[in-house]
Amino acid sequence: MTERPEPRPGIMDIAAYVGGESSIPGVDRIIKLSSNEGPFGPSPLASKAHETEAQNLHRYPDGGAVKLRAAIGERYGLDPEKIVCGAGSDELISLLCKAYAGPGDEVLYSEHGFLMYPISAKTVGATPVTAPEVDKTANVDNLLAAVTDKTRILFLANPNNPTGTYLPATEVKRLRDNLRDDVLLVIDAAYAEYVTVDDYSAGIELVDAGENTVMTRTFSKIYALGGVRLGWCYAPANVIDVLNRIRGPFNVGAAAMAAGIAAIQDKDFEDMSRAHNTKWREWTAIELGKLGLDVTPSIGNFLLVCFNADPDRDAAAADAFLKTKGIVVRRMGGYGFPNCLRITIGLEEEMRSVVDALAQFMGKNASGAA
Ligand SMILES: *Cc1c(COP(=O)(O)O)cnc(C)c1O
Repeated sequence: MTERPEPRPGIMDIAAYVGGESSIPGVDRIIKLSSNEGPFGPSPLASKAHETEAQNLHRYPDGGAVKLRAAIGERYGLDPEKIVCGAGSDELISLLCKAYAGPGDEVLYSEHGFLMYPISAKTVGATPVTAPEVDKTANVDNLLAAVTDKTRILFLANPNNPTGTYLPATEVKRLRDNLRDDVLLVIDAAYAEYVTVDDYSAGIELVDAGENTVMTRTFSKIYALGGVRLGWCYAPANVIDVLNRIRGPFNVGAAAMAAGIAAIQDKDFEDMSRAHNTKWREWTAIELGKLGLDVTPSIGNFLLVCFNADPDRDAAAADAFLKTKGIVVRRMGGYGFPNCLRITIGLEEEMRSVVDALAQFMGKNASGAA
């Protein structure tokens, strides 16, 4: 006889998502490079819009997110009818799992993919399945080889977090072309706005080409609005219809929408953020490479940095040393990289500090960091 309510099978197998640390005991001012947040804070226009909306907090928000969808459509040249907004793209990931997968189904993603995919899959009773990566990069042939009769959804983070690697548009198209038509391909393009390489696509053309591909986006990264929880997806009409049936009627708050509209219209802030990120990501990668660290080439706003196995010089020791300097980065054990750290691209002085600290840690002077 059971004595208390028990969750459905699989729920207790979920390891809850652990976000980046944001404090160090005993340290007042920290350098937080643990959550891929925008280093400048939000656009001042977004903060102002959020504040203005504070007068109206007694009113329910527009459940249809009409103005926000129009602003997104305007910015990216998309039909607002094919957009659904969510409380972060995490909510959209979880809604897609709820709608398209269940017990006995498989949800496929690549080996070092974003951890919300297995969490959302298990939440609905589905089985997460991974396909091996090659050079810390998703591999189309391996993903296709892992597809079974039970596969219902394939999540591809492009670029991927935490590796920063990506599949060029031709490879994503090859993936879609060779995937069964009834498998939903979800392209998670959380970092798309940072990308400057020519052979990348966030996947809009694949969404437009059929009824089985979705692109998810977020306001948490380049728009620096992680605190308000705002994301969106671009999807064919059949998927939009499904999402609108199962989402909460007021799933996005009014202040979040106001901030999002102002942020997406502040093109200067976005361009400044992208240029800063590209410059300091490349500088940091070069400097850390000079220290003998293994830095994975990244097109996002973070770097995966791997250490050697010597216990005095490994990722755990580096993380502990950085903390003594007030610097918080992300341990990567949960992503299958126990000897790597993920470092978000912060302000110039923050990147100089992290390079200086790691130079000390590696027992060398930072070259060119003066
Ligand atoms: C940060 C991130 C998201 C965004 O999550 P939000 O819920 O929108 O804050 C989605 N996917 C990946 C791969 C990410 O790194």
